[in-house]
Amino acid sequence: MKKIDILIIGSGIAGISLGSLLSKHRQVLIVEKEKEISYHSTGRSFAFFIESYGNKQIIELTKISKEFFKNYENLFLRKKGVMFIGNNKQKKIIKNFYDEHKTKINLDYLDKKKTLDKASCLKEKYINSSVLDINACEIDVNSLYEFYRKNYIRNKCEILKNFQIKDVDEKNDKWIINRDIECNIVVNASGAWADEVAKKFLIKKIDVVPKKRTVFVFKPTNIEIDNKWPLIADIEEKFYFKDQSNQIYASPADETPTYPHDCYPEELDIAIGIDRLQKSTEFEFKSIENKWAGLRTFVMDKSPVIGFENNKKNFFWLVAQGGYGIQTAPALSKIAKELILGNNENKIMKLEDFYNISINRLR
Ligand SMILES: Cc1cc2nc3c(=O)[nH]c(=O)nc-3n(C[C@H](O)[C@H](O)[C@H](O)COP(=O)(O)OP(=O)(O)OC[C@H]3O[C@@H](n4cnc5c(N)ncnc54)[C@H](O)[C@@H]3O)c2cc1C
Repeated sequence: MKKIDILIIGSGIAGISLGSLLSKHRQVLIVEKEKEISYHSTGRSFAFFIESYGNKQIIELTKISKEFFKNYENLFLRKKGVMFIGNNKQKKIIKNFYDEHKTKINLDYLDKKKTLDKASCLKEKYINSSVLDINACEIDVNSLYEFYRKNYIRNKCEILKNFQIKDVDEKNDKWIINRDIECNIVVNASGAWADEVAKKFLIKKIDVVPKKRTVFVFKPTNIEIDNKWPLIADIEEKFYFKDQSNQIYASPADETPTYPHDCYPEELDIAIGIDRLQKSTEFEFKSIENKWAGLRTFVMDKSPVIGFENNKKNFFWLVAQGGYGIQTAPALSKIAKELILGNNENKIMKLEDFYNISINRLR
């Protein structure tokens, strides 16, 4: 029997970031059901860090993550900016967004001319105004993942791939998995599979909803790509796009509720994305060069679920990071580590606030 302190289920950014921090203090094992690590949501993101994105809790978590990223600025983040654009029907939404966030985040309100000066690919007759968040960055997800993975391996902990949970037993508050692994704490970092994994441990589900999001890539035939363009996002998140490696990466910002699975892009979602881009930009292109889809997993209030299961100190949740799981990973892993190791007195992290985003609020 293999005896360890903490078993983490899932090798995405949630599992690996927490594993990296815990492995300094405890014997940890990460298990992954796929043949490859980071195969699901983490390997399929749009790789952005946006401080003005998401609800209040996401914004707070992103702020905490920023401190981590600041220490490694050149390694993981590259400043690109994000411009939230609006047409005539959306000008009030642009104004409201600016008024809501301008005191907390460094934002510029841009009129039509200034918006078009920033991104000449936009259609003049479509644009009314925009809000520019100049500090938004691209995240080098591979480097971030590798940073955590290398720290984890350096602490002499293992990742088991192709791992199936077949049998779970609980004795004296310890878990015994497949009659082979004994551990004190299980961390559920299984993304879209969170409820399925909980069921194996006879823990009540929290009703996660995986939502599919599509990305497609093309090379414009009529316009030179300028790598100084910011990421451009519709103010109501109906589409967004960025340039990368002299191509355009775009998304129709679809949020189709689905079940946990290895998902693929639908032609209809790509067609919707193309239509939205054709209305708002001057881009022409002949073919789609790449496409993929991934799952962004939420609970109802769109805040992450982090914390021990109610009245159970051997089952910990780290799930429902939605569309923000990369940019919030440094904060969430730090908070999860403190909660698991019991070092809750760290006031800088305002941990008392984060108990509210634990499992307790859901039942
Ligand atoms: C198209 C798209 C764009 C996105 N853009 C951004 C962005 O710009 N910025 C941002 O911050 N976030 C973004 N996200 C969100 C981000 O990718 C996710 O929030 C994050 O990757 C979630 O990480 P995770 O580790 O929880 O999940 P995952 O990466 O899905 O990892 C969970 C792992 O658990 C494994 N698992 C499941 N069940 C079991 C089991 N029974 N046994 C063992 N292993 C199991 C799975 O195989 C999987 O590998 C985007 C997501 C998508 C899909």
